[in-house]
Amino acid sequence: MEAQIEKAASLLCRSRVSLALTGAGISVESGIPDFRSPGGLWERYDIIEYASITAFQKNPEKVWTLLSEMYDTITHAKPNPAHLGLGRLEQMERLHTVITQNIDNLHQEGGSTHVIEYHGNFKTLSCLSCGSKYPIEDVVDRLPPKCRCNQILKPDVIFFGEAIPPEALRDSYELAAACQALLVIGTSAEVTPANTIPGVAKQAGATIIEINLQPTHLTESVTDLFLPGKAGEIVPQLVAAVEADTSRR
Ligand code: NAD
Repeated sequence: MEAQIEKAASLLCRSRVSLALTGAGISVESGIPDFRSPGGLWERYDIIEYASITAFQKNPEKVWTLLSEMYDTITHAKPNPAHLGLGRLEQMERLHTVITQNIDNLHQEGGSTHVIEYHGNFKTLSCLSCGSKYPIEDVVDRLPPKCRCNQILKPDVIFFGEAIPPEALRDSYELAAACQALLVIGTSAEVTPANTIPGVAKQAGATIIEINLQPTHLTESVTDLFLPGKAGEIVPQLVAAVEADTSRR
């Protein structure tokens, strides 16, 4: 394993542009459950009934039972060593950008400044009826939060059936096509179009380094280096190896 981590570190040190694509798994050690692991949110909530835009339009109160639970968990969560490690890699100029599918703001809290939020963020909410927008802290005293026009607000996160923010989509593909190394951390890669990013990077010649508790469908198809284990343990080892590699030069 040590040799594999050193190899990954060497790849990051020799890449002009390195990226990370992260998923819910990177925040599990911060206490936020992912969706698809055993005990994950989809064991208790049906995807179609709770995470699609049509479900929200049909019954926003019901969808807010999931959203309230997520909001409560997210507000109490702190960045873990994996988030902090990616922040440190950016500071060392070994990581250009984090593309995250997460909505929890933990990369920014962990020191990353170049973050593409592919699925939006829970920090603001919008009214689907009149278009008003609110910072979450202004409206969470009563859940589900309501607009001044009395409609239930929707967090600015991307539900199934909604389009990815165009800028996030464009910037992610442009960077993926320009990178030489891509870290893929804590994602099952089941959600499209985010799961097409590793293929775009691979086609452009990048090396794909995957960190996950278990193999995914990427592992056999595009991954060059699979580092099995908890992100909160592997990423700090990777950072230490990058620091050692840098100091040797
Ligand atoms: P997912 O639940 O489908 O998959 C999580 C992956 O992370 C799995 O492959 C699992 O093996 C791996 N994993 C779990 N714990 C890990 C750990 N400690 N270290 C390394 N890997 C670990 O998540 P996804 O692929 O991101 O797709 C789910 C969607 O749900 C995303 O679009 C995301 O927006 C959303 N989501 C976000 C949050 C959040 O913001 N924290 C939480 C739940 C879901």
